[in-house]
Amino acid sequence: MSDERWILHVDMDAFYAAIEQRDHPAYRGKPLMVGSPPDRRGIIATCSYEARKFGVHSAMPSRTAGKLCPHGIFVPPDMKKYSSESKLIMAILGDFTPQLEPISVDEAFLDVSSVRNLLGDAVNIARRIKERIHRERNLTASIGVAPNKFLAKLASDLEKPDGLTVITDENKLAILAPLSVGKLWGVGEVTRQRLESHGLKTIGDIRKAGVPSLRSLLGNQAEHLHQLSLGNDAREVETESNAKSIGSENTFDVDTADEKTLRKTLLEQADEIASELRSENTAARTITLKLRYSDFTTITRRITLDSPTQDDVTIYDRALALFHAEKTGDKKIRLIGISTSGFAPPASQLDLFDTSSEKKQRLAKAVDTIRAKHGTKSIGRTVE
Ligand SMILES: [Mg+2]
Repeated sequence: MSDERWILHVDMDAFYAAIEQRDHPAYRGKPLMVGSPPDRRGIIATCSYEARKFGVHSAMPSRTAGKLCPHGIFVPPDMKKYSSESKLIMAILGDFTPQLEPISVDEAFLDVSSVRNLLGDAVNIARRIKERIHRERNLTASIGVAPNKFLAKLASDLEKPDGLTVITDENKLAILAPLSVGKLWGVGEVTRQRLESHGLKTIGDIRKAGVPSLRSLLGNQAEHLHQLSLGNDAREVETESNAKSIGSENTFDVDTADEKTLRKTLLEQADEIASELRSENTAARTITLKLRYSDFTTITRRITLDSPTQDDVTIYDRALALFHAEKTGDKKIRLIGISTSGFAPPASQLDLFDTSSEKKQRLAKAVDTIRAKHGTKSIGRTVE
């Protein structure tokens, strides 16, 4: 067995416009805009490749599109039709692996490592997916094949439409080097301009700059973006059964630095999250605390546990420890929240029926501690 990871990013080509062209022969081969009409406020959702030649692109104001492409056809979107088409496409993808993460109506990641772990096999799956989408739905998709999500998404965009692009560990640096820094996940327009004004125009520039010098420009994003510039990305394909996160957060009516209030809020959130985890029959390994201060500065701090939990006291304790580590003191807090992620099955059945004194004692002690601090009312669920 190899531990190679192969991720596919499937992206339908000009999805809404392609559906309309498929269903209306009169639109084929013509510049087609799906969105608001050109004489009204509003934008183009998607346009056909024929329209792109005129410089029209998605999210462009319809009036601008009308000027660039005065003879184009404008049709209103039919979201119901696109959404049922999307379900059919996702069902085709689901035939290849359950490791499927739809990220929008026309895009999804697939982790095919467990199905096949050789590059040839991953490419073969991509080819078969394209064939089935074409044969059964009469639409085209572009697919990127790569060792991780970032590279797979990048790859699917390189040879649109109807592309199949492979990025490997061997060619990734060469492919990344000349691309704009804007292609890095998490680099929006503002960050891109800031980087460019410091001479960092390409992903290769970011790689060569190194983390220490990036830190002054990017803060705590530096490490992450530098890893992306090396073509590294550890993010997993998130299937529905390991949904992104379960969390809870509250914004206070009046910003507060009162520790008692903050603790009480965390406790309620931990309780709510734990009961949701239990009802989903899952447990979380990562606990994240989010704080937003009065000046809207927002921080998140996380901790990864040795074993996944669905226990409110554990979630509360860890979130509180993260909070204390921040030493917020008199700084007023506007929002506080906990989220949990990194889902795994809850501890074994054995553990569920574990009546061993150690666990009980630990729980009881934690309950008592919280009771002492907050009174019995705040504890409900734990003492059942
Ligand atoms: Mg698309």
